[in-house]
Amino acid sequence: MKTQEINEFLHLIDLEPAGLENFIASYVLVGEKVAIIETGPASTVPNLLKGLKKIGIKTEDIDIIAISHVHLDHGGGAGTLMQHLPNARLIVHPRGAPHLVNPEKLWTQSRQVLGKVAEMYGEPEPVSSERIMKASDGISINLGKNIELEIIETLGHASHHFSYDEKGTRILFPGDAAGIYLNQFDVIVPTTPPPFHLETALSSIDKLIQKLPTLLCYTHFGLAKNAIEKLNRHSAQLRLWAEIVADGLKNGETLETITVDIRQKDPAVKAVSEYVATHPVLSGGVGRTDVQGFIEYILKQSK
Ligand SMILES: [Zn+2]
Repeated sequence: MKTQEINEFLHLIDLEPAGLENFIASYVLVGEKVAIIETGPASTVPNLLKGLKKIGIKTEDIDIIAISHVHLDHGGGAGTLMQHLPNARLIVHPRGAPHLVNPEKLWTQSRQVLGKVAEMYGEPEPVSSERIMKASDGISINLGKNIELEIIETLGHASHHFSYDEKGTRILFPGDAAGIYLNQFDVIVPTTPPPFHLETALSSIDKLIQKLPTLLCYTHFGLAKNAIEKLNRHSAQLRLWAEIVADGLKNGETLETITVDIRQKDPAVKAVSEYVATHPVLSGGVGRTDVQGFIEYILKQSK
Protein backbone atom coordinates (compact mmCIF):
# COMPACT_ATOMS: atom_id res chain seq x y z
CA MET A 1 0.00 0.00 0.00
CA LYS A 2 1.67 3.16 -1.20
CA THR A 3 0.89 6.44 0.52
CA GLN A 4 2.54 9.77 -0.18
CA GLU A 5 2.73 12.89 1.98
CA ILE A 6 2.19 15.79 -0.42
CA ASN A 7 2.45 18.52 2.21
CA GLU A 8 1.78 18.94 5.94
CA PHE A 9 -1.98 18.47 5.53
CA LEU A 10 -2.38 16.43 2.35
CA HIS A 11 -1.78 12.75 1.61
CA LEU A 12 -2.26 10.52 -1.42
CA ILE A 13 -3.30 6.87 -1.10
CA ASP A 14 -2.78 4.61 -4.13
CA LEU A 15 -5.88 2.39 -4.15
CA GLU A 16 -4.41 -0.26 -6.46
CA PRO A 17 -7.53 -2.00 -7.86
CA ALA A 18 -6.61 -5.63 -8.60
CA GLY A 19 -3.02 -4.67 -7.81
CA LEU A 20 -2.93 -2.02 -10.55
CA GLU A 21 -0.63 0.75 -9.28
CA ASN A 22 -0.68 4.44 -10.22
CA PHE A 23 -4.21 4.34 -11.55
CA ILE A 24 -6.68 5.47 -8.87
CA ALA A 25 -5.78 7.88 -6.09
CA SER A 26 -7.65 8.97 -3.03
CA TYR A 27 -6.62 12.17 -1.21
CA VAL A 28 -6.78 12.84 2.52
CA LEU A 29 -6.86 16.37 3.92
CA VAL A 30 -6.13 16.73 7.61
CA GLY A 31 -7.17 19.94 9.36
CA GLU A 32 -9.13 20.06 12.61
CA LYS A 33 -11.56 18.08 10.50
CA VAL A 34 -10.53 15.31 8.14
CA ALA A 35 -11.79 14.99 4.56
CA ILE A 36 -11.28 12.32 1.93
CA ILE A 37 -11.52 13.26 -1.74
CA GLU A 38 -12.54 10.30 -3.95
CA THR A 39 -13.38 6.93 -2.40
CA GLY A 40 -12.37 4.94 -5.46
CA PRO A 41 -14.28 1.75 -6.23
CA ALA A 42 -15.96 -0.59 -3.73
CA SER A 43 -13.31 -3.29 -4.23
CA THR A 44 -10.49 -1.08 -2.93
CA VAL A 45 -12.15 0.15 0.28
CA PRO A 46 -9.97 -2.27 2.33
CA ASN A 47 -6.88 -0.69 0.73
CA LEU A 48 -8.17 2.79 1.51
CA LEU A 49 -8.75 1.82 5.15
CA LYS A 50 -5.20 0.41 5.33
CA GLY A 51 -3.86 3.64 3.87
CA LEU A 52 -5.75 5.73 6.43
CA LYS A 53 -4.31 3.60 9.23
CA LYS A 54 -0.82 4.05 7.82
CA ILE A 55 -1.26 7.84 7.78
CA GLY A 56 -2.50 7.65 11.37
CA ILE A 57 -6.13 8.65 10.81
CA LYS A 58 -8.84 7.04 12.94
CA THR A 59 -12.01 6.12 11.07
CA GLU A 60 -14.20 7.94 13.62
CA ASP A 61 -12.25 11.17 13.01
CA ILE A 62 -13.26 11.44 9.35
CA ASP A 63 -15.91 14.10 8.80
CA ILE A 64 -16.22 14.54 5.05
CA ILE A 65 -16.11 12.30 2.03
CA ALA A 66 -16.17 14.30 -1.20
CA ILE A 67 -16.45 12.56 -4.55
CA SER A 68 -16.17 14.09 -8.00
CA HIS A 69 -18.90 11.91 -9.51
CA VAL A 70 -20.55 8.52 -9.12
CA HIS A 71 -18.67 6.53 -11.78
CA LEU A 72 -17.49 3.32 -10.09
CA ASP A 73 -13.80 4.25 -10.08
CA HIS A 74 -14.46 7.57 -8.27
CA GLY A 75 -17.48 7.12 -5.99
CA GLY A 76 -18.41 3.44 -6.25
CA GLY A 77 -16.86 2.78 -2.85
CA ALA A 78 -18.80 5.50 -0.98
CA GLY A 79 -21.47 3.21 0.49
CA THR A 80 -19.01 0.55 1.63
CA LEU A 81 -16.59 3.12 3.04
CA MET A 82 -19.29 4.95 5.01
CA GLN A 83 -20.13 1.76 6.88
CA HIS A 84 -16.65 2.09 8.41
CA LEU A 85 -16.80 5.84 9.09
CA PRO A 86 -19.53 6.51 11.68
CA ASN A 87 -19.22 10.32 11.59
CA ALA A 88 -18.65 11.01 7.92
CA ARG A 89 -21.02 12.82 5.60
CA LEU A 90 -20.87 12.65 1.83
CA ILE A 91 -20.53 15.44 -0.72
CA VAL A 92 -21.74 14.47 -4.19
CA HIS A 93 -23.41 16.41 -7.00
CA PRO A 94 -27.21 16.42 -6.38
CA ARG A 95 -27.79 14.73 -9.75
CA GLY A 96 -25.40 11.94 -8.76
CA ALA A 97 -26.76 11.40 -5.26
CA PRO A 98 -29.83 9.26 -6.20
CA HIS A 99 -27.50 6.79 -7.94
CA LEU A 100 -25.66 6.17 -4.67
CA VAL A 101 -28.81 5.93 -2.55
CA ASN A 102 -30.13 3.35 -5.05
CA PRO A 103 -27.11 1.96 -6.87
CA GLU A 104 -28.85 -0.88 -8.78
CA LYS A 105 -29.16 1.05 -12.03
CA LEU A 106 -25.61 2.41 -11.75
CA TRP A 107 -24.34 -1.14 -11.33
CA THR A 108 -26.37 -2.59 -14.21
CA GLN A 109 -25.30 0.16 -16.59
CA SER A 110 -21.67 0.04 -15.49
CA ARG A 111 -21.56 -3.70 -16.17
CA GLN A 112 -23.00 -3.14 -19.63
CA VAL A 113 -20.50 -0.41 -20.48
CA LEU A 114 -17.39 -1.61 -18.64
CA GLY A 115 -17.82 -5.39 -18.65
CA LYS A 116 -14.99 -7.08 -16.74
CA VAL A 117 -13.64 -3.76 -15.50
CA ALA A 118 -16.90 -3.23 -13.58
CA GLU A 119 -16.37 -6.57 -11.83
CA MET A 120 -12.86 -5.44 -10.93
CA TYR A 121 -14.30 -2.27 -9.35
CA GLY A 122 -17.00 -4.15 -7.45
CA GLU A 123 -20.70 -3.56 -6.84
CA PRO A 124 -21.51 -0.27 -5.09
CA GLU A 125 -23.42 -0.48 -1.80
CA PRO A 126 -26.11 2.09 -0.99
CA VAL A 127 -25.48 5.31 0.94
CA SER A 128 -28.28 6.40 3.28
CA SER A 129 -29.72 9.68 2.06
CA GLU A 130 -29.51 11.37 5.51
CA ARG A 131 -25.73 11.18 5.30
CA ILE A 132 -25.53 13.17 2.06
CA MET A 133 -24.82 16.89 2.44
CA LYS A 134 -26.54 19.57 0.40
CA ALA A 135 -23.87 20.69 -2.01
CA SER A 136 -23.62 23.12 -4.90
CA ASP A 137 -21.16 25.18 -6.91
CA GLY A 138 -19.26 27.78 -4.88
CA ILE A 139 -19.90 26.32 -1.42
CA SER A 140 -16.82 26.08 0.81
CA ILE A 141 -16.14 23.61 3.58
CA ASN A 142 -13.86 24.82 6.34
CA LEU A 143 -11.68 22.02 7.71
CA GLY A 144 -9.86 24.25 10.21
CA LYS A 145 -6.15 25.11 10.25
CA ASN A 146 -6.78 27.42 7.27
CA ILE A 147 -7.81 24.54 5.03
CA GLU A 148 -10.89 25.34 3.00
CA LEU A 149 -12.34 23.21 0.22
CA GLU A 150 -14.43 24.92 -2.42
CA ILE A 151 -16.85 22.95 -4.59
CA ILE A 152 -16.61 23.74 -8.30
CA GLU A 153 -19.27 22.32 -10.58
CA THR A 154 -17.43 20.98 -13.63
CA LEU A 155 -19.80 19.18 -15.99
CA GLY A 156 -18.99 17.72 -19.40
CA HIS A 157 -17.35 14.37 -18.60
CA ALA A 158 -20.58 13.64 -16.73
CA SER A 159 -23.81 15.58 -16.25
CA HIS A 160 -23.05 15.55 -12.52
CA HIS A 161 -19.45 16.38 -11.58
CA PHE A 162 -17.66 18.41 -8.92
CA SER A 163 -14.02 19.42 -8.73
CA TYR A 164 -12.56 20.68 -5.45
CA ASP A 165 -10.17 23.55 -4.79
CA GLU A 166 -8.20 24.05 -1.57
CA LYS A 167 -8.43 27.81 -1.46
CA GLY A 168 -5.33 28.63 0.61
CA THR A 169 -2.82 26.63 -1.41
CA ARG A 170 -4.86 26.60 -4.67
CA ILE A 171 -4.38 22.84 -4.93
CA LEU A 172 -7.03 21.51 -7.28
CA PHE A 173 -8.71 18.10 -7.38
CA PRO A 174 -10.24 17.90 -10.88
CA GLY A 175 -11.73 14.38 -10.76
CA ASP A 176 -12.27 13.49 -14.42
CA ALA A 177 -12.70 17.12 -15.59
CA ALA A 178 -9.07 17.50 -16.73
CA GLY A 179 -8.47 14.18 -18.47
CA ILE A 180 -6.26 11.33 -17.32
CA TYR A 181 -2.69 12.23 -16.46
CA LEU A 182 -0.02 9.64 -17.24
CA ASN A 183 2.62 10.95 -14.90
CA GLN A 184 5.52 8.82 -16.13
CA PHE A 185 5.09 10.22 -19.68
CA ASP A 186 3.84 13.70 -18.70
CA VAL A 187 0.95 13.02 -21.07
CA ILE A 188 -2.76 13.73 -20.73
CA VAL A 189 -5.37 11.61 -22.49
CA PRO A 190 -9.07 12.47 -22.68
CA THR A 191 -11.71 10.59 -20.71
CA THR A 192 -14.81 11.35 -22.73
CA PRO A 193 -17.18 8.37 -22.86
CA PRO A 194 -20.79 8.99 -23.97
CA PRO A 195 -22.75 11.05 -23.01
CA PHE A 196 -19.86 13.52 -23.27
CA HIS A 197 -20.61 17.22 -23.78
CA LEU A 198 -17.67 19.04 -25.38
CA GLU A 199 -18.69 22.70 -24.95
CA THR A 200 -19.58 22.13 -21.31
CA ALA A 201 -16.30 20.29 -20.70
CA LEU A 202 -14.33 23.17 -22.25
CA SER A 203 -16.08 25.77 -20.10
CA SER A 204 -15.44 23.60 -17.03
CA ILE A 205 -11.73 23.62 -17.82
CA ASP A 206 -11.88 27.43 -18.18
CA LYS A 207 -13.55 27.61 -14.80
CA LEU A 208 -10.70 25.58 -13.29
CA ILE A 209 -8.07 27.80 -14.97
CA GLN A 210 -9.72 30.86 -13.40
CA LYS A 211 -8.93 29.43 -9.95
CA LEU A 212 -5.22 29.85 -10.82
CA PRO A 213 -4.31 26.41 -9.49
CA THR A 214 -0.73 25.71 -8.43
CA LEU A 215 -0.98 21.92 -8.43
CA LEU A 216 -3.40 19.35 -9.84
CA CYS A 217 -4.16 16.23 -7.82
CA TYR A 218 -5.51 13.83 -10.41
CA THR A 219 -7.61 10.83 -9.42
CA HIS A 220 -6.00 9.17 -12.47
CA PHE A 221 -3.24 9.68 -11.35
CA GLY A 222 -1.22 11.73 -8.96
CA LEU A 223 0.36 15.15 -8.95
CA ALA A 224 0.83 17.49 -11.88
CA LYS A 225 2.77 20.73 -11.49
CA ASN A 226 2.34 23.64 -13.93
CA ALA A 227 -1.37 23.16 -13.42
CA ILE A 228 -2.56 25.93 -15.73
CA GLU A 229 -0.34 24.68 -18.56
CA LYS A 230 -1.84 21.19 -18.09
CA LEU A 231 -5.39 22.52 -18.22
CA ASN A 232 -4.68 24.59 -21.33
CA ARG A 233 -2.99 21.63 -22.94
CA HIS A 234 -6.01 19.40 -22.27
CA SER A 235 -8.41 22.03 -23.58
CA ALA A 236 -6.43 22.25 -26.85
CA GLN A 237 -6.41 18.45 -27.03
CA LEU A 238 -10.21 18.24 -26.76
CA ARG A 239 -10.51 20.82 -29.56
CA LEU A 240 -8.09 18.82 -31.70
CA TRP A 241 -10.11 15.63 -31.17
CA ALA A 242 -13.29 17.49 -32.10
CA GLU A 243 -11.70 18.60 -35.41
CA ILE A 244 -10.40 15.12 -36.22
CA VAL A 245 -13.73 13.47 -35.42
CA ALA A 246 -15.76 16.08 -37.35
CA ASP A 247 -13.50 15.63 -40.41
CA GLY A 248 -13.77 11.87 -40.13
CA LEU A 249 -17.56 11.96 -39.96
CA LYS A 250 -17.69 14.29 -42.97
CA ASN A 251 -15.63 11.73 -44.92
CA GLY A 252 -17.95 8.92 -43.89
CA GLU A 253 -15.39 7.25 -41.64
CA THR A 254 -16.24 4.71 -38.91
CA LEU A 255 -15.39 4.64 -35.22
CA GLU A 256 -12.46 2.34 -36.05
CA THR A 257 -10.88 4.55 -38.70
CA ILE A 258 -11.46 7.77 -36.72
CA THR A 259 -9.74 6.09 -33.76
CA VAL A 260 -6.75 5.38 -36.00
CA ASP A 261 -6.78 9.06 -37.11
CA ILE A 262 -6.71 10.18 -33.46
CA ARG A 263 -3.76 7.92 -32.70
CA GLN A 264 -1.86 9.39 -35.65
CA LYS A 265 -2.79 13.04 -35.25
CA ASP A 266 -2.72 13.57 -31.47
CA PRO A 267 0.98 13.45 -30.48
CA ALA A 268 0.07 12.81 -26.82
CA VAL A 269 -1.98 9.72 -27.68
CA LYS A 270 0.70 8.57 -30.11
CA ALA A 271 3.40 8.86 -27.42
CA VAL A 272 1.58 6.49 -25.05
CA SER A 273 -0.07 4.16 -27.57
CA GLU A 274 1.97 1.11 -26.52
CA TYR A 275 1.43 1.74 -22.81
CA VAL A 276 -2.30 2.27 -23.31
CA ALA A 277 -2.68 -0.80 -25.56
CA THR A 278 -1.54 -3.13 -22.77
CA HIS A 279 -3.22 -1.26 -19.88
CA PRO A 280 -6.03 -3.36 -18.34
CA VAL A 281 -8.46 -0.41 -18.17
CA LEU A 282 -7.22 2.26 -20.57
CA SER A 283 -6.99 -0.15 -23.51
CA GLY A 284 -10.79 -0.21 -23.69
CA GLY A 285 -11.17 3.56 -23.50
CA VAL A 286 -8.65 5.75 -25.27
CA GLY A 287 -9.03 3.58 -28.34
CA ARG A 288 -12.80 3.52 -28.58
CA THR A 289 -15.16 4.70 -25.87
CA ASP A 290 -13.69 8.19 -25.65
CA VAL A 291 -13.80 8.60 -29.43
CA GLN A 292 -17.38 7.32 -29.37
CA GLY A 293 -18.21 10.11 -26.88
CA PHE A 294 -17.03 12.71 -29.41
CA ILE A 295 -18.85 11.04 -32.31
CA GLU A 296 -22.17 10.99 -30.46
CA TYR A 297 -21.71 14.61 -29.31
CA ILE A 298 -20.95 15.89 -32.83
CA LEU A 299 -23.81 13.92 -34.42
CA LYS A 300 -26.21 15.33 -31.84
CA GLN A 301 -25.03 18.91 -32.50
CA SER A 302 -25.53 18.56 -36.25
CA LYS A 303 -29.13 17.40 -35.90
ZN1 LIG B 1 -15.86 9.20 -14.85
